[in-house]
Amino acid sequence: MKCINHPDKDAETNCSVCGEPICLECRTIIKGKDTCPKCQEEWLSRQATRQISY
Ligand SMILES: [Zn+2]
Ligand SMILES: [Zn+2]
Repeated sequence: MKCINHPDKDAETNCSVCGEPICLECRTIIKGKDTCPKCQEEWLSRQATRQISY
């Protein structure tokens, strides 16, 4: 399985949110879970929204 962002790199793990294969370079750990860049952005925007609505 190859990384969704790097077709030339092997994926080392899967995003815990969307399940897409990602390499270590693309991985961000959020609350102890592997997360892809796309889901990281969504998570961050959710946090921001939550702060505003709070
Ligand atoms: Zn993801
Ligand atoms: Zn990658």
